[in-house]
Amino acid sequence: MADRVLRGSRLGAVSYENERGQAPAARVRVDFTCPQGHAFDVVFAEEADLPGVWDCPTCGAAAQAVGGAAPAAKASKPARTHWDMLLERRSVSDLQVLLDERLAEIRGDSGPPRRRSA
Ligand SMILES: [Zn+2]
Repeated sequence: MADRVLRGSRLGAVSYENERGQAPAARVRVDFTCPQGHAFDVVFAEEADLPGVWDCPTCGAAAQAVGGAAPAAKASKPARTHWDMLLERRSVSDLQVLLDERLAEIRGDSGPPRRRSA
């Protein structure tokens, strides 16, 4: 009777793909040691970026990777400042002209005033 039970499954919950004959993804084991002295290891996919720090499963402290498994810090692009962006649009001599115009306007020795008289 038990072998006549109709078995079902939820849609999307189960993969019917056969794992036979498929090689598992290449893995890397990284050892970590936390400040409390707890040692543990974590398995990562070979192509993954290996973290240099992992939370200790025992005490929760940040554990350091052992044996140089920590990746070199990524070379980061220097941040583009507002000044850099401004220099991409205008040359320093253009800016000097604008600055002179504004200063003249502020000092009141240029052309007609911009303020409307009511
Ligand atoms: Zn720990």
